[in-house]
Amino acid sequence: LARLRARLAKSNSGLGRGLLALLSRDTLDEETWEEIEDTLLLADVGVDPTTELVDTLRERVRVLGTKEPDQLRALLREELIKLVDPTMERELSVTAAPGRPAVVLVVGVNGTGKTTTVGKLARVLVAEDKDVVLGAADTFRAAAADQLQTWGERVGVPTVRSDKEGADPASVAHDAVRAGIDGESDVVLIDTAGRLQNKVGLMDQLGKVKRVAERALDGGTIDEVLLVLDATTGQNGMQQAKVFSEVVDISGIVLTKLDGTAKGGIVVAVQRALGVPVKLIGLGEGPDDLAPFTAEEFVDALLD
Ligand code: GDP
Repeated sequence: LARLRARLAKSNSGLGRGLLALLSRDTLDEETWEEIEDTLLLADVGVDPTTELVDTLRERVRVLGTKEPDQLRALLREELIKLVDPTMERELSVTAAPGRPAVVLVVGVNGTGKTTTVGKLARVLVAEDKDVVLGAADTFRAAAADQLQTWGERVGVPTVRSDKEGADPASVAHDAVRAGIDGESDVVLIDTAGRLQNKVGLMDQLGKVKRVAERALDGGTIDEVLLVLDATTGQNGMQQAKVFSEVVDISGIVLTKLDGTAKGGIVVAVQRALGVPVKLIGLGEGPDDLAPFTAEEFVDALLD
């Protein structure tokens, strides 16, 4: 975790430290406040949260009336944590119920890091002594199931897949859930296809995958629908988030590739837009590069 935090700090320290440096200037004139605003906007924090934060900082820095670095840092830390919202519930629902596993559906546009996230998450769960089954419901590309299976083998968990390219994704999801029930597994992680060309098609497909998986649970509900977003894609990612949230009820967001961008502010923007917490962050391509997200740790990494 310390290693991942260092990686996040490396890519995003410009944001936290940049803000602190600006706030520490001898005179906080209009130009400086504009620079603070620009810094936040450039990091993809979003217009409304940026305006709110700048207003609050202006008032609080004035009341504080000191340039004492530790006090400024503490003030900034407090306001950034508030912005990220420490009150959101970020724990994954991955506890099996009697007679059935927890089921997690992973959705998102291709290329955002879905399959990789499923693999990394399986590894985290296995380390917690959970029995995990993977479901390769991205049946549009044969390579997608191969890639997932490779992750499964690496992590030591079985992958339920169809050998037919273009097979019904819902049927694979069904089989994966059944395998989870029959094998008394703890968690079933289902990888899906995310082609955005056609919203109606996507809606039909994800809706059906969800319904059929729930039917396999004898009417139980899916425990998590995680939306995977690539942090480097900015407004494009925000647009994807909106489309997916109209198609299926998202319960959590996984923000990937935060290691490769200084735009960590997208955490704030996407949570605001969807009203759903970021639960996990991806900080690299390797099996251990997935971390739980907490507002405090995130902000501390930005200020490191
Ligand atoms: P999918 O099409 O959504 O399933 O995306 P993949 O899981 O195939 O990932 C697409 C690419 O992004 C791959 O090259 C991954 O190694 C890479 N990737 C995924 N997550 C991360 C991350 O957190 N950081 C970095 N740097 N790369 C990532």
